Amino acid sequence: MKKQFETRAIRLQNQRTSEREHSVPIFPTSSFTFDNAEQMRAVFASEEEGNIYSRFTNPNCRELETKIASLEETEDAVALASGMSAVFSALMGHLQAGDHLLCARAVFGSTYQVLMNWLPRWGIETTFVDGGDSESWISAVRPTTKMFFLETPSNPGLDIIDLEKVGDFCKDQELLMVVDNCFATPYLQRPINFGAHLVTHSATKFMDGQGRVVGGLVAGTSEHLAPVQRFLRNTGPSLSPFNAWILSKSLETLAVRMDRHCANALTLAKWMGNLEMIKNVRYPFLESHPGSEIAKKQMSQGGGLLTFEMRGGLVAGKQFLDNLQLCSLSANLGDTRTIVTHPASTTHAKVSPEDRQKVGITDGLIRVSVGLEHVEDLKADLLQSLGGGEKY
Ligand SMILES: *Cc1c(COP(=O)(O)O)cnc(C)c1O
Repeated sequence: MKKQFETRAIRLQNQRTSEREHSVPIFPTSSFTFDNAEQMRAVFASEEEGNIYSRFTNPNCRELETKIASLEETEDAVALASGMSAVFSALMGHLQAGDHLLCARAVFGSTYQVLMNWLPRWGIETTFVDGGDSESWISAVRPTTKMFFLETPSNPGLDIIDLEKVGDFCKDQELLMVVDNCFATPYLQRPINFGAHLVTHSATKFMDGQGRVVGGLVAGTSEHLAPVQRFLRNTGPSLSPFNAWILSKSLETLAVRMDRHCANALTLAKWMGNLEMIKNVRYPFLESHPGSEIAKKQMSQGGGLLTFEMRGGLVAGKQFLDNLQLCSLSANLGDTRTIVTHPASTTHAKVSPEDRQKVGITDGLIRVSVGLEHVEDLKADLLQSLGGGEKY
């Protein structure tokens, strides 16, 4: 019988030395040796399995890759130096000059920059579509369209896109479906089961979960992963063995951490709905979220992020951020520590105000990555920063 998610995250350990260590050892080596010329030839020719050089493979990266593949319920994965190198390698592995792709408009700021400013230099064009309006996707398809890239829940707007609908659409149109699954993690959502060919991750976020390393992953079928792997091996955004070791260790606690992130976030989201100073509290599992039904269909819990707007707009928002005593002002998310960000002046400052509006990033929007502190302490800090003001 296939073991459960939590057990696989902990017990899937395939790298050991002859010392019979219980925890996984670290392999900080740039290259590997061979017993003889014939063995070296065979490994280079891929006739025999083996490590050659840590830009290609390393035992710690391999362990992380095998684990993520298992957790995402797919065949294989590649580890990369950051979430953006994962996104970029997934794109570059599959697209070439003359190709066109569809991208759901609400995507991570740097992903948007890559699609807007870098890919056109190499003759690859993107049409941004409304992830919630499936009728509009078809009219954006061209004979050269190869891929549909999307993120759900999106950063920072928490838009929800129906993965099953995109899966059916991509199957009909013979498009490669690539999903950035960073916000949900494989514990809450597995896009492969809805037809995604590749899943990308910023492992920097909930996977590390403790704000220590930058890393990325692409998971998928071996067939769709092969060009991504070749791109990584040739161009070199490889993950370090040490960071891979940290990430693999962190995954052992992903399930318990996500349970608490989600519980704290849901509690805060419900509580914040009753505060006078704020409006439009958004959390995927709140009934007021327009995508809550779809979210509940494809995610097991609502995730660790929520957003809201300050009634006083930008000025009130800045005052709120300055008043925080416990929560951190930081650009990261998915940490044990609760992090509060103002996207319009930071992560999405380079996106034009019109484009920000289109994806709901208003000037007063605040993103909260809810951490693992006690929820009552979080309420107290948020309340004092908002200047009191409970409705009831
Ligand atoms: C952070 C993030 C990325 C980029 O990951 P890095 O590890 O910072 O390179 C990509 N997608 C989403 C949704 C993110 O939140």
